[in-house]
Amino acid sequence: MHGLNEYEPIVGAQVIDELRLLADKTKGWTVQNVNSTAVGGGVAEILNRMVPLLQELGVKASWDVIKGGEQFFKVTKKFHNALHGKLEDLKPEDFTTFLETSEMNNKTMELKGDILMIHDPQPIALIQRKDTQKSKWAWRCHIDVSNPDPKVWNFLRPFIDRYDASVFSAPAFSQELPIRQFLIPPSIDPLSDKNKELPLNTIQEVLQKYQLDPEKPIVTQISRFDYLKDPLGVIDAFEMVQRYVDCQLVLAGGTATDDPESVEVLEKTNARASANADIHVLAIPSGSDIEINALQRASSVIVQKSLKEGFGLTVTEALWKGKPLVASAVGGITLQVAHRYSGLLCHSIEGAAYAIKQLLQNSEYAKKLGENGREHVRQNFLLTRHLRDYLLLFLSFFHEGDIIHLN
Ligand code: UDP
Repeated sequence: MHGLNEYEPIVGAQVIDELRLLADKTKGWTVQNVNSTAVGGGVAEILNRMVPLLQELGVKASWDVIKGGEQFFKVTKKFHNALHGKLEDLKPEDFTTFLETSEMNNKTMELKGDILMIHDPQPIALIQRKDTQKSKWAWRCHIDVSNPDPKVWNFLRPFIDRYDASVFSAPAFSQELPIRQFLIPPSIDPLSDKNKELPLNTIQEVLQKYQLDPEKPIVTQISRFDYLKDPLGVIDAFEMVQRYVDCQLVLAGGTATDDPESVEVLEKTNARASANADIHVLAIPSGSDIEINALQRASSVIVQKSLKEGFGLTVTEALWKGKPLVASAVGGITLQVAHRYSGLLCHSIEGAAYAIKQLLQNSEYAKKLGENGREHVRQNFLLTRHLRDYLLLFLSFFHEGDIIHLN
């Protein structure tokens, strides 16, 4: 694990000093995070790094995961899709399942904190214990809820309304709510295995392991196998590009324990890709961070053709590596990519194909976009900025309306 001082060469001494000043005010506070999976997906990715650094700053931060059976996670996946605006066939018994599992977690989960950070809808009903805890409660929503299915949103609203504050990733996701709202975009850790610099031979070994041709340009999308990440759309776009440029496609990803749909999506992707020898569908076990890092670094172009996206950490990771990026103009991706400045935004399969081809054929332009993207991430989406925002959030709970002196 890296200490805070190691971030100084990347972000500057001032950023680290400011964090220490803020942390002086929150020393010894207990902050418990609760989500629904320890591995897979962006939330787990962030908590893995955020919690130890908060601890280093003197905050007693912890992280717990709720329990749930297959049926519960089927329902919460439907909720997730519906909150993203996808039409889902929701039955009355789905809501019953959600409430029953919530009840079980309410009975068994130990809650301890000056502040409780509850991530996403799965554990949202823990708020029913608000009266028994003296804590301040934050609902940290990582989903793009700009256009939610009202059936699910209205079901969740009585829970949300009881929190002391909500936190969304982007201004477009904020909602009319009777509680305070904070806008805090996520972040990546530049020193983690996922993002640190890698020696060339590590990258070569990974290419060899997955039988990728080091001489042929690689177009990559890293994502959980999820319909909302549109792996089949990526294949369609790639095959259009292939008519003009000899290149290979990597679709690499795993499954998340709270996503029962992923096996089916992986199977469909494999079936669609099987006739094309230049498409490599790689099922990568969770925790293979160096491999993901190496695949991103070996790529000529990185794609994120999501149909919906909360924030898109894979986009941040690609930009930080200075990679030319083609990404859908959805959700938090638009916070990260300024079209034709730090990447290319697309709105369709044809648009994605056109952009990928353009970047493969114009390496100078591609390089410039990558450099701009890296600087944008340095300024806005590294873990140190995220830590600062969380410390300010914690302080705001106990200093509503006050001026806080940091010296
Ligand atoms: N990721 C990974 N292995 C995979 C697929 C994804 O480590 O097989 C990581 C990816 O590098 C990123 C995170 O999981 O850090 C995904 O976050 P993102 O916000 O892009 O999407 P989410 O999965 O949360 O919808």
